[in-house]
Amino acid sequence: MDLGIKGKKALVCAASKGLGRGCAEALAEAGVNLVINARGDEALQATAAYIRATYGVEVTAVAADITTEDGRARVLAAAGDVDILVTNAGGPPPGLWSDWSRDDFIKALDGNMLTPIALMQALLPGMIARKWGRVVNITSGSVKAPIPQLGLSNAARTGLTGFVAGTARQVAEHGVTINNLLPGIHDTDRATSLDGGVAKAQGIDIPQARKQRQATIPARRYGTAEEFGAACAFLCSEKAGFIVGQNLLLDGGAVNATI
Ligand code: NAP
Repeated sequence: MDLGIKGKKALVCAASKGLGRGCAEALAEAGVNLVINARGDEALQATAAYIRATYGVEVTAVAADITTEDGRARVLAAAGDVDILVTNAGGPPPGLWSDWSRDDFIKALDGNMLTPIALMQALLPGMIARKWGRVVNITSGSVKAPIPQLGLSNAARTGLTGFVAGTARQVAEHGVTINNLLPGIHDTDRATSLDGGVAKAQGIDIPQARKQRQATIPARRYGTAEEFGAACAFLCSEKAGFIVGQNLLLDGGAVNATI
């Protein structure tokens, strides 16, 4: 399918690995030029070089912490006007509801709620002026079904979801869509690290923990970054212009709900 976005420019945050990289690669495959970001420069440059060589698009790589004001300023300065924004950052650590301090909450809110909001505030005006834009926020299945040990993530991402629900409906008349992608368990470093947490808590090894977590998914496997990226590219496509303010769960059926 021709997604109709060849030659457009996208900013994909936190994209040297995992789901962000999956989104960047799928957009590059559709002919979109990229600005990609992550904190570690080495992996970021390697990903940028791979995408340039594989898909023949322009890739600008900016090493910065996207959750800081300074990091965002540097990324936004390098990006300039973009047609497509994919927000992403690392997720907060797991823990127990009673342990988190105000500082822990502020950090989680900064990373997974206020950062995507700041990026939208910076880039939506240009999209609105040009009468075309796409925003996809990588959130989590935890906004639909809470993951008890990820209370910081449940809280911050649900706040973002509320902001998007209203804002998407304010910008849609300008040809700009905002939607959220909700990953269930995907086979990335983040999933491996959470496997490690389960293994430690239950005194089992990591392959056992993974087997146990896979058994909770009707598809009986983890998702892939490639599958995730394909969904992102479709939401960013010309064809998806009537999809507004939605939360698309990619979880192999793990959330047991009719709607
Ligand atoms: P991942 O494989 O660990 O990759 C994270 C990517 O983000 C890396 O490129 C990392 O590079 C970059 N990054 C992290 N923090 C950053 C920051 N502050 N500024 C800039 N770049 C940053 O993680 P993932 O599995 O793709 O997860 C992506 C998001 O989806 C996370 O928020 C995660 O919590 C959420 N999620 C994932 C799953 C899953 O199963 N994978 C499920 C639900 C939700 P550097 O470390 O070099 O910065």
